Amino acid sequence: MQKVQAFSICIRCGKTRIFLKRWKDRGERNKGTVISHEESICPDKECQKIVDEKFQEMRDRRTQTEERKKAVILERSLTKKSKLALVS
Ligand SMILES: [Zn+2]
Repeated sequence: MQKVQAFSICIRCGKTRIFLKRWKDRGERNKGTVISHEESICPDKECQKIVDEKFQEMRDRRTQTEERKKAVILERSLTKKSKLALVS
């Protein structure tokens, strides 16, 4: 069983974070090993809010990059197909 270590120290202010909750899941599409997650929060509410926003921003950016990658791959495969169609 793989254990995911939650942040024990706030990345922003360096305070020890408070344990919030623990849960388990099997990753994407319920496949693979069960991973236990731990969520902790900063004792400073205002700080936690900022950290949360930063994480959300990072997630959004990652989603955007992935969407763009998918679009590029799709575009490439379409171009390839149309070229092949021209050849044959
Ligand atoms: Zn903090």
